[in-house]
Amino acid sequence: MSAPHEIVVLGGNFAGVGLVHYLFKITIPSLQKLDPAKTFHITLVTPNTDLFFKIGSPRALINDKLMPESKILRPLSEGLSKYKPEQFTLTQALATSLDASKRTVTIAPVGSETTTELPYDSLFISTGTTSTSPLWTFHADQSLTSAALKSMHASLPTAKTVLIAGGGAVGIETAGEIAHFFPGIKISLLSGAARLLPNNPPAIGPRAQSYLETHAKVEVIHKLRVEGSNVSETGTTVTLSDGSTKTADLYIDATGGKANTGFLKADWLDGTKRVLTRDAYFRVKGNGSDDVEGVYVLGDVTADSANTAMVLDAQTPTVASAFAVDFARKVIGVEAGEKNNPGLLGGLLGMVFGKKAGPPSLVEFKPMKDTMLVPVGPDGGVGLIMGWRFPSFLVAKIKGKNYLLEMFEPLLTGDKWKA
Ligand SMILES: Cc1cc2nc3c(=O)[nH]c(=O)nc-3n(C[C@H](O)[C@H](O)[C@H](O)COP(=O)(O)OP(=O)(O)OC[C@H]3O[C@@H](n4cnc5c(N)ncnc54)[C@H](O)[C@@H]3O)c2cc1C
Repeated sequence: MSAPHEIVVLGGNFAGVGLVHYLFKITIPSLQKLDPAKTFHITLVTPNTDLFFKIGSPRALINDKLMPESKILRPLSEGLSKYKPEQFTLTQALATSLDASKRTVTIAPVGSETTTELPYDSLFISTGTTSTSPLWTFHADQSLTSAALKSMHASLPTAKTVLIAGGGAVGIETAGEIAHFFPGIKISLLSGAARLLPNNPPAIGPRAQSYLETHAKVEVIHKLRVEGSNVSETGTTVTLSDGSTKTADLYIDATGGKANTGFLKADWLDGTKRVLTRDAYFRVKGNGSDDVEGVYVLGDVTADSANTAMVLDAQTPTVASAFAVDFARKVIGVEAGEKNNPGLLGGLLGMVFGKKAGPPSLVEFKPMKDTMLVPVGPDGGVGLIMGWRFPSFLVAKIKGKNYLLEMFEPLLTGDKWKA
């Protein structure tokens, strides 16, 4: 029997974990129908041992009762230990460099002084971003996220003033949560732009501002960015882009993350250091001379990413289909099929005689556009569904009550993907 095809996935949170399940449940079985002799092994390289359901962070930072840490941080092994060692390896490490000519990734295992070279046949990059505060993304040491949550739990009950930097959904949701659960705190939110939600359709930002000012009594300040901060016994003093300063008992940085691509060459990346793609199926573009055959990207680290978990529902099948098509062509010698549409007669025959293993075909990327839910506390907020205004009570019902926690289990176990 030939050696298994080695798939390396870098980054194990929303994108990477979702992809591993998708490959095992859907892509690999379909390729094995085409050629039963082919075997596959996936190595997931990631420094964290838990899956972080960061969507819940704005509620979890309030205290440990409303949304305990155990609800948003759960061991990866709970979802991945079902895969046998000959199929799957979870490696707790950071990717530190990539040699495209040798088709290897150098990884630094957590707690070890030495590095290891990991060969790949196919490679998926899903290393996401790192925010300044570990409240929103893992840092290399995941215990910093727990420590940041605990620090908030300790500080909020005595704080009289809170300053939040970041006018995206995370800053708005955090302001809304603190305002609801600590109504005595004076909260200021610095958007850092001309309006809230500057990367979303124009109507929603002013609506979010109006909701924050009216219902949560949050002061919203535009066009000033935080340039530096200094913690002292009296609180945190931030220096703003106009040279002025502002002091608050508690300062929360919710300004978004930097792409985790330090292990890649700069000419593989766009201006935000996200990974450039060469087509609509998330094949990595590279620099024109490096071997990027069988190298793919997904999640927040993708150039032009929507930076949402929701987009992965569309992106994961698309990027997995690119891998399947490339594998079938290169390793099995089968060209990609037409779009998988058997027609009525073909569908009926398939139901009677069973589906024939056809060649894999590319899945078009069709994300749900202009859709977002931004709760401002548990009772309301603002939202858009495909560009249409979403009523506040539905924002509360769908997201505000428990921050979509019901999505965590199917993500962790892979049950969200139906074969
Ligand atoms: C507070 C908050 C609320 C949100 N709410 C929503 C929402 O309501 N709806 C929605 O759709 N989206 C929401 N999002 C966005 C969503 O969470 C992200 O889009 C999603 O987490 C992106 O997943 P990812 O796997 O690409 O990146 P990440 O979740 O950032 O995961 C990256 C992984 O890569 C690992 N890693 C980093 N560097 C390396 C390396 N060098 N080598 C190996 N591994 C590495 C990290 O440890 C991590 O495990 C929210 C985000 C936040 C912060």
